[in-house]
Amino acid sequence: MESKGVMIVTGSARGIGAATALRAGQAGYHVVVNYVTKREAAERVVEAIMSEGGKANAVQADIGSEDEVLALFEAADRFGQLTALVNNAGIVDQAARVDAMDWARLERMMRINVIGTVACSREAVKRMSTRKGGKGGAIVNVSSAAAKLGAPALYVDYAASKGAIDTFTVGLAREVADEGIRVTAVRPGIIETEIHASGGQPERVAQMASQLPMKRAGTADEVARAILWLASDEASYSTGAILDVSGGRSILP
Ligand code: NAP
Repeated sequence: MESKGVMIVTGSARGIGAATALRAGQAGYHVVVNYVTKREAAERVVEAIMSEGGKANAVQADIGSEDEVLALFEAADRFGQLTALVNNAGIVDQAARVDAMDWARLERMMRINVIGTVACSREAVKRMSTRKGGKGGAIVNVSSAAAKLGAPALYVDYAASKGAIDTFTVGLAREVADEGIRVTAVRPGIIETEIHASGGQPERVAQMASQLPMKRAGTADEVARAILWLASDEASYSTGAILDVSGGRSILP
């Protein structure tokens, strides 16, 4: 299999990240399967990639910690040239109105969802930029349909963090457009993963399905395929682009 260099997928022990890591392994990337708590799940993703003839390593790092972000990229450097970063790791919190959100919640939401993505991208640009001696690359951010819809009475803080990701995608794309780096994003709609249970809403996918334009939620693999396309040379003239992968949910008039 032709080697495509190293792809880091943050938060790829499960959900959209795991599906992305599996597809990346099939596409010929050496995949860095980042996890924060789920070591065994991360190792299962690595084993699945290797069983198909791919290359992968699990690396623990909390992307809400600068030291751990630096260590993640230093670990990835040992596997070869970084060519792709997928900023997938993200959190929601319990459903609440803004007037009930405490400072600790807001700080954690922005630290992981926003600062983590910006800091990982910073480390990727240092390695990929042709201006700094790199060979270029692709960064794909995982935003959310919530960035457009706002998630009122649910998690407006999360929606705002994803709005920041959209703006960051556009700004960084323009900043490094002539340095060989493309920066894009996907905005998933309601996808069948454990994130809903982590926000105290295990029934959300089942409850919402009939209200969605396609009358079903999406799968993690449907998002992964969009991410892999945006990271690939097939998308060579797309930068600053944000692709809705929401089954029509996030189309606004
Ligand atoms: P998930 O199943 O809950 O998985 C989240 C992943 O993020 C886990 O692998 C987790 O690691 C990792 N993670 C959380 N905090 C981290 C941290 N501080 N450092 C490193 N990794 C961390 O979620 P998902 O649904 O696949 O979500 C993936 C992305 O898609 C998120 O950015 C989310 O906002 C976005 N998204 C999801 C949906 C949806 O409906 N599912 C919709 C729109 C957008 P561990 O496994 O080690 O705990």
